[in-house]
Amino acid sequence: MPPGTASKVVYDRGMRRALGILLALSGRVSAAPPHIGDDAAITLLYGTAAPSVNPCADDAAPIECMIADRYATDPKAKAIALALYQSSGDIAGVGEDEVMDGGYRGKIHLVPQLPTGRYRQHLARVAAAMKSIDEFLASDQSGDSARRYRWRALAFRFVRSINKRTPSAYATAWSIEYNVEGSLLTSERGVRETLFHELFHLNDEDHGDWSAKTLASDYDAIVAKCGEHVRCYAPYAPNDTRVIATGSYYAFQQDNGNSVHEYAAELAVRYLKEQTEILSKQKLSRPAFKCGPPENARAWKSLVDEFFGGYDRVPEC
Ligand SMILES: [Zn+2]
Repeated sequence: MPPGTASKVVYDRGMRRALGILLALSGRVSAAPPHIGDDAAITLLYGTAAPSVNPCADDAAPIECMIADRYATDPKAKAIALALYQSSGDIAGVGEDEVMDGGYRGKIHLVPQLPTGRYRQHLARVAAAMKSIDEFLASDQSGDSARRYRWRALAFRFVRSINKRTPSAYATAWSIEYNVEGSLLTSERGVRETLFHELFHLNDEDHGDWSAKTLASDYDAIVAKCGEHVRCYAPYAPNDTRVIATGSYYAFQQDNGNSVHEYAAELAVRYLKEQTEILSKQKLSRPAFKCGPPENARAWKSLVDEFFGGYDRVPEC
């Protein structure tokens, strides 16, 4: 990270802490969990542009007030961001200026980019995707309050990559970093599937790194068996997403963090696709993933049981 960037980030964090103390002293606590607190909302919305005095400190609805303030220059984007927050508790803000180590992608410079003006369409697609995911998961989870899967009150951190179109997104700690230049984010479907993938990472993390504990032995055996032979992975790949540079199925691309996490997130996307297809067309357009090799059946059942309450609309093989 360039020195200028680093010092800006440190300054910004100091500012946020001061603002956080001010907000805490004001005695406001947001309602029912999960939710994003005022302090986190300031960081998320303003990034390095955080004002020295919170403009919404005395407002009855401080987060709505901050969203309105931050999006003031683009009334259409403001309306979308407010509606997103009111329906889901999600806040659309910005990520940090950073140079990330993208593994096989190399180093990537990301800069904060509020989704306004020419980038507003990304905000609209995120809002549409989260509405669709909400409808899907809410119907899936009806009558089972014990299931632990969170898909609301997420922090969307919008960034723009310089001279690259990857990564499209990454996720940690109930935050999703969204790259407005991301190569997978050029359609509603691409955004919905990418966000479902990222949402899974967050829940996988919340379930104590479930995929690494549960799926790694089968996954490692597949990688050991197939090695560099891309076609060998085809029956095991949960999704079609391929890496342009290497041709690899994304679920099996190496030098990509702990790649079993990617396999699991792609498996979750396959779950979304198959369940949605059964709901809308009552049949699948390709053979069910679970009806492939035995490794697929095991991974599918584990995922469905852990995250989706054993709820699988796809008929038995
Ligand atoms: Zn991922």
